[in-house]
Order: sequence, then structure tokens, then C-alpha cells
Amino acid sequence: MGSNKDIELIEDGKRMDGREFDELREITIKAGVLKRADGSAYLEWGKNKIMAAVYGPREMHPRHAQETRKAVVRARYNMAAFSVPDRKRPGPDRRSIEISKLVSEALEKVVFTEKYPRSVIDVFIEVLQASAGTRCGGLTAASVALADAGIPMSDLVASCASGKIEGQVVLDLGKNEDNYGQADVPVGYIPRSDDICLLQMDGNLTEEEYEEAMDMAIEACKEIHGIQREALRERYSTELKDENEKDLAEGV
Ligand code: ADP
Repeated sequence: MGSNKDIELIEDGKRMDGREFDELREITIKAGVLKRADGSAYLEWGKNKIMAAVYGPREMHPRHAQETRKAVVRARYNMAAFSVPDRKRPGPDRRSIEISKLVSEALEKVVFTEKYPRSVIDVFIEVLQASAGTRCGGLTAASVALADAGIPMSDLVASCASGKIEGQVVLDLGKNEDNYGQADVPVGYIPRSDDICLLQMDGNLTEEEYEEAMDMAIEACKEIHGIQREALRERYSTELKDENEKDLAEGV
């Protein structure tokens, strides 16, 4: 967040990429893209490209980190060195540690962790190309990967940010909007229970603007939830089709 008077973010009632104020960037999700992971999902969201892979539930190591009554959901968010225009220094930094923690906590709200005591469910989020909104994209992809791994969950978490640019509340900030806007509010939402499982705010909003931004983000999360479910449906129907073809080939 910052201001730069030379950069115009809104012109003739539209944003610089032509979007309406409450319009998402284009989102596509594909489930089950990695052979060796228990579950996976690949997401493209505008120019963001993110892979999520799930391993587990499996025995937690180190053992002192085990929880006797439940599984630990351990998300690790990582941005590839080549994911941003200036090379990102590899390895964890304060930002990625923070995002890993809040994604883990958001996912723990929907996973039935008590089914797997002493276990860990590892969730790797690899940002291959970043263009603002990667924590929301990472969380959205991760919950599809968990479902793809067959982990029992109460619902899929959908996530999206809203915020403010040039005094206007908008949905899903792009890179310039994130850099030169006035506020950014990432939201994680659980549609079935109507719960918020992630909420941050960078910048300032009035109370009314905050209400408007939340309503916008929640509506968008409901739309994203539909895209997540469609990705899983697609994955499941492809798997069934493959099985049927195999059965036919084998004369079963
Ligand atoms: P989010 O990606 O969830 O919006 P931030 O607001 O912290 O998270 O970051 C906004 C964007 O800034 C990122 O999506 C990425 O494009 C860029 N960015 C973040 N960290 C770096 C970095 N270390 N080097 C270059 N660009 C970065």
C-alpha cells in the first residue's frame, strides 16, 4: 500500500485492466495434477500461478510437535525465486512464515483434525508466478488439494481480497492496485457455516467502506467456491471415465 500521484488506477469508472469495481480476475482451477502427492491443485488467478500439494495424514515428525487428540495442518507457503520480476531470495522470510501460519489456521477450521490424532497433514503452496493476491490464491488452491486428497472436511475454504483504490472500494486488487492503493483486505470464507477463517487488513477503511469491502469479498468467495467444486467434479468425472475405459479395455 502506498500512494503515487502519477499512477492512475481508475479511468472513466473502470479499473486499468478494464474490470468493474466488483469484478474478479479470471480464475481457473484444476484438481489432481500431481502424481506423487496425495492431493493437488493448480490455480491460475489473473497472472498468479500457484500449485498446492497435500501429503498425509502421516505420522508427525518431530514427535514433540504431535497433538495427542488431533492432526496438525501444516501449510508451507513459498514463492519461487522466478515468481516476481526482481528475483525473490529463496527460502522462508517473515512474510512467507506469516502466510504459512494463517493458511494453516484457516484450513484447520474445516479439516476434521480429530480423526487423525498424532498426525500431520502437510500442505505445500508453491507460488510460481505472483501478481498480488497470492495468499488468497494459495488458500483457495490448498483447500481443493485437501479435498482431492480425500481429507474429510466440513467445507472448502474460498478466499479473496477486497480493498480500496482512489477512494473506491474494489474487489480483488491487481499488482498496481495493491502497490498504490489505499487498503487491502484478504478474506477467507467458509460458505456452509458462513464463517470467516482469515481476515487481515493493510491500510485504512472507514466503517462503511469496511462493510462494503467485506460484502464484496464474501460474494466473490461464494463464486470462487463454485469454481472449486467444479474443479473437483471435473477431476472425479475424469477419474471415473478413466476407470471405465480401463475396465472396457480389460473386458471387465
Ligand atoms: P499477496 O500476494 O497475498 O497479495 P502481499 O500483499 O504481501 O501478498 O504481496 C503482494 C504482491 O507483491 C505479491 O503477490 C507479489 O506479486 C509481490 N511480492 C511479494 N513479495 C515479494 C518479493 N519478495 N519480491 C518481489 N515481489 C514480491
